[in-house]
Amino acid sequence: MQYTDIFELSRTRGELSGELAAQDLPALASLIDPGCGGALVHWSAVGTAGRNDLPGADLTIDAQITTRCVRCGEPVTLVIRKTVPFLFVKSEKEADAIPIEDDGDYEIVVGSRKFDLAAWVEEELILSLPAFAQHDDCAPPAEHMHDEGDPAEAERANPFACLAELKRRR
Ligand SMILES: [Zn+2]
Repeated sequence: MQYTDIFELSRTRGELSGELAAQDLPALASLIDPGCGGALVHWSAVGTAGRNDLPGADLTIDAQITTRCVRCGEPVTLVIRKTVPFLFVKSEKEADAIPIEDDGDYEIVVGSRKFDLAAWVEEELILSLPAFAQHDDCAPPAEHMHDEGDPAEAERANPFACLAELKRRR
């Protein structure tokens, strides 16, 4: 069940769920360490017709992504658990027409009657990855992250460095 009619899911307030692994998520897999990396992803989507007068769905992700810690070099498992409210539009043009103040906390994406579920989950996972993959007990407190070390060096060591580019699209 890779593709679904996302507008129909919204309209019927239906529910879909599935499991994905690294081989289903090539863009994510390219960001994690090839030697020790892996992904176990459970996702579910519940249709939410009518929110902001648009088709929508809540996407819930429960994922464990394993890659290499940038500090100690040992494998580290990142746990990503989140529910993201989406609104679906029919075209980029329709998305651009939504005033910024109206999109609230929603992610707005172009829906489809043949919507690629794995790509949808994958994009959300990629946006959820931390800037630095590291063990909690290897890490400095989050609020001090930007004060530590040489940023250029951290960038080189960061397996998710190319994410910054992706995130700027948002
Ligand atoms: Zn570590």
